[in-house]
Amino acid sequence: MNRTGITTPSPTFLMSEPTSPHSVSQRVRIITLGCAKNEVDSEEIAGVLRGEGHVVGANEDADVTIINTCGFLESAKQESIRTIQQAVASKGNGRVIVAGCLAQRMGEELRRLAPGADLYVGVGQMARFGALVKDVFGHAESRVEVTPPHHRWADVATRARTGKAWSAYLKISEGCDHRCTFCTIPSFRGNHVSKPIERVVEEAHHLVKTGAKEINLIAQDVTQYGYDLYKEFTLPKLLRELNEIPGIEWVRLLYFYPNRLTDEVLDAMADCEHVLPYVDIPLQHVHPDTLRRMKRPWDGDRYLALFDKVRARLTRVAIRTTFIVGFPGETEAEFSALLDFVRTARLDRVGAFTFSREPGTPSYEMEGQVPARVKQERFDRLMRAQQGISLAINRTYEGHSLKVLVEEAKDGWVAGRSFRDAPEIDGWVYAQGDAVPGSIVEVKVTEGRIHDLYGHLAGVTAPKRRALTPLTMSGPSAPQ
Ligand code: SF4
Repeated sequence: MNRTGITTPSPTFLMSEPTSPHSVSQRVRIITLGCAKNEVDSEEIAGVLRGEGHVVGANEDADVTIINTCGFLESAKQESIRTIQQAVASKGNGRVIVAGCLAQRMGEELRRLAPGADLYVGVGQMARFGALVKDVFGHAESRVEVTPPHHRWADVATRARTGKAWSAYLKISEGCDHRCTFCTIPSFRGNHVSKPIERVVEEAHHLVKTGAKEINLIAQDVTQYGYDLYKEFTLPKLLRELNEIPGIEWVRLLYFYPNRLTDEVLDAMADCEHVLPYVDIPLQHVHPDTLRRMKRPWDGDRYLALFDKVRARLTRVAIRTTFIVGFPGETEAEFSALLDFVRTARLDRVGAFTFSREPGTPSYEMEGQVPARVKQERFDRLMRAQQGISLAINRTYEGHSLKVLVEEAKDGWVAGRSFRDAPEIDGWVYAQGDAVPGSIVEVKVTEGRIHDLYGHLAGVTAPKRRALTPLTMSGPSAPQ
């Protein structure tokens, strides 16, 4: 939900030998747009196809191109449409399958806007991709196959990982039961459906066996996990079971919903040594009137009380949130309440979006749409207010040591992430010294900047301050 971008599967993981002698082997290219949940879906599709004897990981010469689309925001929709158009233009005798959120959200309309694909199919169909690939060669006409979302979890062992071996996403549920008035997700991902607990644990075992040290549990709302299956909120039980898996180092949770971050969840997080004290809890706003228009719970005072409780129960916790600025009807007073909250709450990380008016959502029709210029100006003010806070908090780490999962090593420097840094979302820790990517090392922090921390590995002599400029590292917030 926070990221967009194209991921083409890494040949290292996906160029595997066909395992079934009975099917016609096709060369398949998978293009993934959007969030980590889509990445997981694409890995499941790749695993299913590999099991059916296809070779996944082809490029322009593919027999079949599968585009796993994102339909979350208008900007993501445009990117998906452009990608479909490019794939159709270059398909030659091959086939193009459009899958995922945008196909689910728009169906026939997507075929009208981005015509020429052989099949448009919705979400939750990962287990069927063997049949779908066979099918597109049996039909001359383009087809749209979108039904209400119905999730069939693919076989654990089929998932073909594309990311770094040491860090993996694990989807614990699909869909969402909330109805935030700005959000399109429930309309195309459906209501919340949990993956059975034994399936999640089995998948975690599989990920650890294949090299994962960090497992990032993902769902639209992790706090709701299990209720549909077990009639009780099962996240604490799940965390305790995952914590026992030999070889698991870090379990990270993305994302919490405010009114279900209960004592039981906090107790489980505090008790489980491998569950990171990292709380990513998108609040979207804090003024009660804005929140009611958003159909979101509580208000800023209750959120502050919640953070007090979180900080009391989880020592040295990192808290992250995201806000929407310029929601319809947001007055200057409502926005000021948000600014005051940011200054008072002093959170480790704050992200913000300007409100995006999405067709089909209740907020699209609301009166009081805020002009783009005002939205941008409020966004800038909010980000500026947070910068000083981030810097001050990062400086509190100076002189302390942190465990860091190394992502990259080059020229006597490593770049990695601590418990405070979710992959592709937060900052980096840059440290002088040598270590193998995928290892977890101890870093002594010598300097905190707005986004990132700098330091050196244990046993490495503290570098002079001027030397702290590893300009060739490729972290997302590269050293300024
Ligand atoms: S909690 Fe709200 S914003 Fe998040 S996915 Fe559900 S409806 Fe959308």
